[in-house]
Amino acid sequence: PLRENVDVNRVLEESIGFLENEAHFRNIQIHRELDPHLPLVVSDTGQLQQVFLNIFDNAIDAVGKGGEITLTSRYLEKDGKVSITIADSGPGIPEEILKKIFDPFFTTKEVGKGTGLGLSITYSIIKKLGGEITVANKPGQGALFTIILPASEPIE
Ligand code: ADP
Ligand code: MG
Repeated sequence: PLRENVDVNRVLEESIGFLENEAHFRNIQIHRELDPHLPLVVSDTGQLQQVFLNIFDNAIDAVGKGGEITLTSRYLEKDGKVSITIADSGPGIPEEILKKIFDPFFTTKEVGKGTGLGLSITYSIIKKLGGEITVANKPGQGALFTIILPASEPIE
């Protein structure tokens, strides 16, 4: 991947932009809680966009009409890292499926609706970028994806 200084909030907004019509059409609300003082991360804009699109795409599928998707970004100052979460109000992910969802070709969607590749690609991109991605169910309802990326060293 490229190594450039990337504004994660901007890439989140751009990625959401691609799906905004679709979300609007399905009456899905998108909430943002973005840290205005987020440092840049060393990353690859195109690849990061791919990551967010794959996760948003699944979230839109999961929530159905009238659902909600919440994006957050936060600076983890003492670790020098940026945390991004994408939560949805869908049914969540059954326990036995949680450990398989990053596997290539794992899908619960009908033939023709899913390839099972989105999250495996997402996982390998995040690894290559030196980050971490985890998935969990929210205590209330829905799935929660967390991505941690190293913040850039200030460049002179
Ligand atoms: P695909 O979308 O083609 O099925 P993915 O790799 O994107 O492949 O996702 C794999 C599987 O993980 C999905 O089929 C679904 O079972 C599960 N999954 C992913 N995101 C969510 C989500 N937000 N809520 C519920 N299940 C999800
Ligand atoms: Mg998918």
